[in-house]
Amino acid sequence: MDIKDIISHSKEYGFIFQSSEIYDGLSAAYDYGPYGVELKNNIKQYWWKSMVQMHENIVGIDAAIFMHPKTWKASGHVDAFNDPLIDNKDSKKRYRADQLIEGYAEKIEAKIQKDVDKAKSRFGDAFDEQQFRTTNDRIIARQNEIDAVMKRLGNAMREGNMDELKTMIDEYGIVCPESGSRNWTEVRQFNLMFSTQLGNIAGEEGKLYLRPETAQGIFVNFLNVQKSTRQKIPFGIAQIGKAFRNEIVARQFIFRMREFEQMEMQFFVRPGEEMQWYEYWKEARLKWHKALGTDASKLRFHDHDNLAHYANAAVDIEFEFPFGFRELEGIHSRTDFDLSQHQELSGKKLQFFDPELNENYVPYVVETSIGCDRMFLAQLSNALQEEAVPDAEGNESTRTVLKLHPALAPVKIAVLPLLKNKEELTNAATDVFNSLKKHFNVQYDEKDAIGRRYRRQDAIGTPYCVTIDFDTLEDNSVTIRDRDTLEQVRIPIDRIADHVRVKTDINELL
Ligand code: ATP
Repeated sequence: MDIKDIISHSKEYGFIFQSSEIYDGLSAAYDYGPYGVELKNNIKQYWWKSMVQMHENIVGIDAAIFMHPKTWKASGHVDAFNDPLIDNKDSKKRYRADQLIEGYAEKIEAKIQKDVDKAKSRFGDAFDEQQFRTTNDRIIARQNEIDAVMKRLGNAMREGNMDELKTMIDEYGIVCPESGSRNWTEVRQFNLMFSTQLGNIAGEEGKLYLRPETAQGIFVNFLNVQKSTRQKIPFGIAQIGKAFRNEIVARQFIFRMREFEQMEMQFFVRPGEEMQWYEYWKEARLKWHKALGTDASKLRFHDHDNLAHYANAAVDIEFEFPFGFRELEGIHSRTDFDLSQHQELSGKKLQFFDPELNENYVPYVVETSIGCDRMFLAQLSNALQEEAVPDAEGNESTRTVLKLHPALAPVKIAVLPLLKNKEELTNAATDVFNSLKKHFNVQYDEKDAIGRRYRRQDAIGTPYCVTIDFDTLEDNSVTIRDRDTLEQVRIPIDRIADHVRVKTDINELL
């Protein structure tokens, strides 16, 4: 399904709404609806349990969004958390200069792909794509051009050379997608932090930022947590919370927002042991994604080409979103950069006394950082499907089904009386509903024909539906329908909870 289908499904079925929609919306801000909040909470719960509950040496915190302004000086965000901004004078639209240049390279890549596809259809089974790509002159020339563009871009970004970015845009003849013109402003650095002002202090002194990442709340609490929980290195601190970035171009639904939620874990290790922990967390995090049954071909590692100045290794876990492979999670070896910086600016020691080595040191950090909203979008796009199924009369029909992992599904089971105007049935169904609601998020639905009710549950990803019919009144059993296999089996009422729990229990994923 493409992103448009996902957006409209999300709205129609109460997963995600545009923020302030009645005022025509606020761009790059979204509200989670009744099913959205359940799915999001389940994602967070899965992450929290895997990180905190499953590791005796990882503990959680919930730090404030506002932090002392020096935090952001120390972390480098005040000076360097910038994106290169350019305006088109005709359309008055704003772009990220690096993304315009990447778009130029992507266009060349699309030309290569077109040639490959043409050759593939011409040569059929005999076609060897690898050989074609490495021997065809036109493709080689185009690939060389892409490599040169990306290298030049990488250098300019690393050096913060805005003039070079502008020169590239001019040289490549990049036009504004909106106006088609080349009438560009200069490129300038744009800081992505939102700022606000404390009520009781005027001027620069009272300037506050909305945190652009949750990580710094962990770093500044490193000693508080270590001392109060008596953790020894290696140990980790985990946190889930909101972060804010004034993204220049925020597109692609909840993939890139200005207010979003992060799930981050900083793992403090002995200097010199960071690479083994980096490898450990790479594998552990990929396993976490795969445990949900996500199609393995949609997940891949992507090593960072340009390392941030404080990192000595960094990799993204990318997911194939409807608009291509993009970063879903980052795993970064951040050295002792953050703690050392905070130590310097605060004047407080942030060290650990290692009893085995009998020495004090500033620990190194390996972090895992995933956007909760991106994870939501990944799960939604992986799960939303249209499927051919037989209808009640056995004729072919299609259904829209959200094949979420049952442990993530917003509603675990729906209770459906066969008919709504038969009190015996609705009473019995209400009893079943009441007996299940303390175990799961359950839904009671008596409106419309049973087939339509099944479709509604399929569309929100409910793994099970039970139907209360006249036989139920005789034998205390119900028909339980499985969302994925469509199989319907008869089970006693007192076995429903156990039956549902097997697949829907988050703990089974751990
Ligand atoms: P990108 O390159 O896509 O801007 P990033 O490298 O700046 O992402 P990090 O700073 O590593 O991202 O943040 C960690 C995670 O937070 C990302 O992997 C992503 O899942 C999430 N994230 C970052 N920015 C946003 C955003 N604007 N909206 C939603 N999620 C985001």
